Amino acid sequence: MTKTALALLNRPSLAAPPHREGAEPFVLVDSGQPHVRVLDLGVTRGDGVFETISIGAGRPQALRAHLVRFARSAAALELSEPDLDAWEAAVRAAAAAIDPVPEAFVKTILTRGVEGEGRPTGWAYAAPADDFTAARRDGIRVVLLDRGYRHDVAQTSPWLLQGAKTLSYAVNRAVLREARRRDADDVVFVSSDGYLLEGSTSSLLLRVGDRLVTPGVDLGILAGTTQGDIFAFAAQRGLATEYALLRPEDLQAADGAWLVSSVRHAAPIRRVDGVDRPVDSEFTSALNSYLVSRTE
Ligand code: PLP
Repeated sequence: MTKTALALLNRPSLAAPPHREGAEPFVLVDSGQPHVRVLDLGVTRGDGVFETISIGAGRPQALRAHLVRFARSAAALELSEPDLDAWEAAVRAAAAAIDPVPEAFVKTILTRGVEGEGRPTGWAYAAPADDFTAARRDGIRVVLLDRGYRHDVAQTSPWLLQGAKTLSYAVNRAVLREARRRDADDVVFVSSDGYLLEGSTSSLLLRVGDRLVTPGVDLGILAGTTQGDIFAFAAQRGLATEYALLRPEDLQAADGAWLVSSVRHAAPIRRVDGVDRPVDSEFTSALNSYLVSRTE
């Protein structure tokens, strides 16, 4: 066993040739060694898609939802359709190959491959998760940042790939640096016409009385697997759930607000643009207990 593990896909897509004829669907390799070629379009152009899957007590969480979204993102980029059986086996093998820890993650990466070869590259990398205790317990400070696209960008301009989980995450990193400059930890993107969207790598969730509300996935945002599971959890507890168009005033007025995502899980929002807001500690810990202990 090792601290990190890497499964290299021999044939990330059945629609494209394998890397080695007749080889196993994936092979576990030394994650400390180089394996990606310098002309891979994932490296040179960010031309690929990815998923980050939480591993709780060794078991992948929301795995099916992640794989479905992986395939949807690949379709948006017109990449060869991923062979989800091979990917699922690679995720499970990478997760099982690391030293046991309570919380880990597996990142799946599918790229268009080396320019001109017509053969995608794929790998699944497993490692222990960072410690998010403080973010989950004490909350995070966010700033609202204009994303620069209208709320209907996915319908008007699908070529912008809003809502696909592509490797082009330089903007999602840049906004975190902007957040730090503004003395905050994360951001909530707002459409150019004033609607709340999502975090840099998370979905926005509000609690209004007995209702959980999140922005609709037709707004060019990612359909969050964590948010999806939270809605199922809420339904079991008799809470109503809703997808809605939300404005910054709705965030200010909400009884609870969180950024939710795989691995960090539910981080309550305790300050928006420098203004403190209440944290619902009880519901936050119920959410995180549920999220941490999910099985599939
Ligand atoms: N929105 C964006 C932009 C993300 O990158 C992510 C996750 O990385 C999410 C939302 C949350 O998705 P999930 O809950 O499936 O991790």
